[in-house]
Parts: sequence; C-alpha cells; structure tokens
Amino acid sequence: MIKTLKTLTGLSLLIGAVAACSNPAETTTDEATAEPQKVLTIYSSRHYDSDKALYAMFEAETGARLDVREAGASQLLETMKAEGDQSPADIIIAADAGSLWRFKDAGLTQALESAALATAVPATYRASDNQWYGIARRIRGIAYDPSRWDASELSTWDTLTQEDKAGEICVRSSSNIYNLSLMGEIIHRYGEESAQDWATAIVSNMARNPQGGDTDQIRAIAAGECSIAIVNHYYWIRLGASDSEADQQVAASTSFLIPEFVEGSGSHVNITGLAVAKTADNLQLAEEFAAFLLTENGQSYITRDTKELPLLASTPLPDGVDRVPTFTPSDTHLDVYGENQADAQRLFDLAGWN
Ligand code: FE
Repeated sequence: MIKTLKTLTGLSLLIGAVAACSNPAETTTDEATAEPQKVLTIYSSRHYDSDKALYAMFEAETGARLDVREAGASQLLETMKAEGDQSPADIIIAADAGSLWRFKDAGLTQALESAALATAVPATYRASDNQWYGIARRIRGIAYDPSRWDASELSTWDTLTQEDKAGEICVRSSSNIYNLSLMGEIIHRYGEESAQDWATAIVSNMARNPQGGDTDQIRAIAAGECSIAIVNHYYWIRLGASDSEADQQVAASTSFLIPEFVEGSGSHVNITGLAVAKTADNLQLAEEFAAFLLTENGQSYITRDTKELPLLASTPLPDGVDRVPTFTPSDTHLDVYGENQADAQRLFDLAGWN
C-alpha cells in the first residue's frame, strides 16, 4: 500500500515538474492535484531526547519522514519570515501560547480544522481560530524558601504585592514570554490599571534587577539572595531530578506552589503547542502528526524530559512531576496571552520592570 502511494507520488511529482517547466503559471494547480509527499518539516524550539524518540516512532508507524530543525522560537520566527513562501516548514512547535501567537501574528501559520484535535485539546488550550493547538501544559508559579514563608502567605499573585515581601522577590526580565503571558492574563481579568499597579508593586518588592532565566531565580533563593521566585514548574522539578547533587540540594531547600490570582480565581496555565505553517501542503499528514502527539504514548514522551504536564488527563505524570501541587486551572482562553502581549510589555515598561 505504502509502496503504491510512493510510486504514485513520484510519478505525479514528475508530471508536476514537467508541467512547471513548460508553463510556470500552471504550477500551483499541478501542485494542488499532485499526491503529497510524505515528508514533514518540523521547526521546533525544543531539544529533548524524548522528542527524538517520539518522532522515530511516528516515522516507523506511518512511513513518513520527519525533517526536524531545532532553534530558539525567536530564531525560528526570523528564519520563517526570511524564507517567506519558500519556507520548507510544515509544523511549528514552540513553548507558550504567547509565542505561538507571534507566528500567527506574522502570518506564518494556517488554520487546521480537525475534529480529532478539537476533541483531544480542551477549548481554552487551542486557538479559537484553530491556528495552534496545545500539546502539553506548563504552570508559572512560585518557588520559595519554606523556612521563611508558609504556603498560605503566597497563595495568590496578589500576595506578592504585600509590604512583607519587600526585597524578597527574584524574577526574570519583563520581555520574557512567560512573564508577558502571565501579565496578559492579569490585564484580561483585572484591567490595565490593576495590572500596572500589580507590576509596580512587584518591582518595588524585587530583591535585585531582573536577570537570568527561571532556574537562576531558584538558585538565588538557595544562595540567600531572595526568598521568593516567579518560575515555571518544570525548572524546579528538573533541579530535583538532576544528576548534580548541588542542584538536588537547591530543589530540596525550596518549595513550589501554584498561586491563584485572587482566592477562588483558578491558576494561570500555559502550554507548549503546535501550529501548521502557512507553507505546509500536506494538511492530512500534519493532522496525523498532531494527533499522534496527543495519544497517551505521544503525551508521555512529550512530557518525559521536559517535566511538563500532559494535556490528556489520562496520561501518567512524568517522573518527579507528582511533586507539583494540585491546582484548579483558570478558565481564561489562551488567545488572551497573545492579544494582550503588546499591552503587557507597555505596562511592564511603565512599572519599571526591566
Ligand atoms: Fe522554559
């Protein structure tokens, strides 16, 4: 069966090529009617062995070939902009709904209508116009020094604005996408004025100027520079799962909690997700690939090394992730993170959050 398909594909590609040479104007029509080639080019901002193992399984199961190109999300975005219509990209995989929104905003994605994906991915975790779909969840929360604070003193994002937190908070720069998305939801829920007040209070409670990544903020707690750090859950989990004894000690000397915005609001949730590139021509294979990532097997590999949370509730948690406290997700649609991104940066700037 697969052999027949391949033969047909080769033949129709050949016909397409001949037609393209004789009459370039007809190229588009010929390409549209040609059997699509079973190759997917993946632009991924991830770099994990468990992803590679999963891709190999997809290739073995479907006979398709995956051409995976890994780089940071902003580099992938610039590459795709430069490549334009000639981009080989079929699939974009990136962390943070706010990051996927940037690809969409730049006109680099297309909608993928899929009943299977709509069933697998809860509505809040996929773009309302189907331009991207979540494949794993990640939680921005609070790492803290448990000898200094009780979890009840840090139970909401609002508690970080209190005077007793002065000089205690470590957090990375405001241009970081995780902070922009968190701020995007605060704007959505409480309006711009309250959001700016929140950011201003955080700035006045910072222990130091924003610097480094999330892991650096957790290390700063262990080093005694601060007692509270705003970080994504998996950085804390990975420190605990690290081969390095020093890292394990950092994790062991800190605790992690998932705050609500205010009591009863639910918690800020983000995703790693997938979008179909505007330049993709084999939407059926793209859908097949996305659906594969959303099987229980796909989910366990997507989260195995990253220590993210599976999106399918039935998937067992990766090793170590059972240390993440239970939480109630907020009902905010993740479209909001991208839509409010520019406002979030503007308000951070007004608050003096570098
Ligand atoms: Fe990260």
